[in-house]
Amino acid sequence: MKPFTYNSRPARIVFGAGSLERLGEELDELGIRRALVLSTPEQRFLADRVRKLAGERCVGVFDGAVMHVPVATAQAGVDAAREADADGLIAAGGGSTLGLAKAIALETSLPIVAVPTTYAGSEVTPIYGMTAGNEKKTGKSYRVLPRTVIYDASLTLTLPAGLTATSGLNAIAHAAEGLYAQDANPVMSMFAEEGIGSLARALPLVCARPDDLAARETAQYGAWLCGTVLGGVGMALHHKLCHTLGGSFNLPHAETHAVILPYAMAFNLPSAPEALQRLGRALGVADPATCLHELGRQLGAPASLETLGLKADQLDHAAEMAMRSPYWNPRPLSYDAVRRLLQLAFDGVRPDLASFNGI
Ligand code: NAD
Repeated sequence: MKPFTYNSRPARIVFGAGSLERLGEELDELGIRRALVLSTPEQRFLADRVRKLAGERCVGVFDGAVMHVPVATAQAGVDAAREADADGLIAAGGGSTLGLAKAIALETSLPIVAVPTTYAGSEVTPIYGMTAGNEKKTGKSYRVLPRTVIYDASLTLTLPAGLTATSGLNAIAHAAEGLYAQDANPVMSMFAEEGIGSLARALPLVCARPDDLAARETAQYGAWLCGTVLGGVGMALHHKLCHTLGGSFNLPHAETHAVILPYAMAFNLPSAPEALQRLGRALGVADPATCLHELGRQLGAPASLETLGLKADQLDHAAEMAMRSPYWNPRPLSYDAVRRLLQLAFDGVRPDLASFNGI
């Protein structure tokens, strides 16, 4: 076995359909008496329910969360928390709401209780991001890691089928890259394999019947494990490409992950035999790249970068940008390889483990 370093960070996970009802006890456990609830405008209804459940432990709602945490939104959130004299934050929503909570916590050190409603996984990572102009800056601080996460799958019943599919594939991407991370370790790989297997089993059931609560719970369990991998080990080419396409070409977050994942796997897995074995075992197939592409089609996820709005004449620039300060990657990178990967993803061609032979 390769030597490794494994950090375990304290996080309290309260899991189960209906567990939002335990919010009051969980706030008491952390000593929070003046919580500010955060949400997007679209999920204000959830924020109001959370506020009611928190009762007199809640001092208000800030429903201004938007995608990619613009610095002005983060500042408005910090101001709202200070004006309300809040002593804790409750983030009720997806990665955008969690992102706002983290930006506020970075400035104020307030503890976060997370109530996730997508499969993005931000609730179990110390990673934060903020956008100024066209540039998204990310960083890592344990100050922003939520202290308690309440996973109540009944809150995901309203997640639209499209976002369910892409958010679930986004979660699989975290764990798949974690399997071949430079700092991979057997504990995170165990989480990754179990997380990917759970999501791959549950997502087709959820997309066929969005009100299947048991399948929603399995998907959420998988998302927790996959998010933990994202927070625990480093990411590689797949995440670099998605950050480039999201940050500089404004492509939507989860959808971009869903499109790129099979191509990143086709490129990297031939150079990462243990990851290939584990991913194959989790999915029950010999070629995970083809399998993930087919899973995307089965779930109705977008099939190509072209359908996401990227233009053919932007591919050269995207490849150049992805090659600027690249992340560590298990297979050596070249402009030509990245350009070819982007072309295949642009066209939505079915990839396999031989797609990059000889490049
Ligand atoms: P999101 O939070 O942007 O949500 C998309 C939309 O769906 C919003 O309008 C939201 O209100 C709505 N929504 C969420 N859950 C719903 C539900 N159950 N029912 C109905 N509507 C619902 O989407 P996301 O994919 O969860 O988050 C994407 C953002 O999270 C990106 O900015 C990404 O960079 C960030 N992210 C960060 C990390 C991290 O570790 N820091 C990890 C993953 C994603």
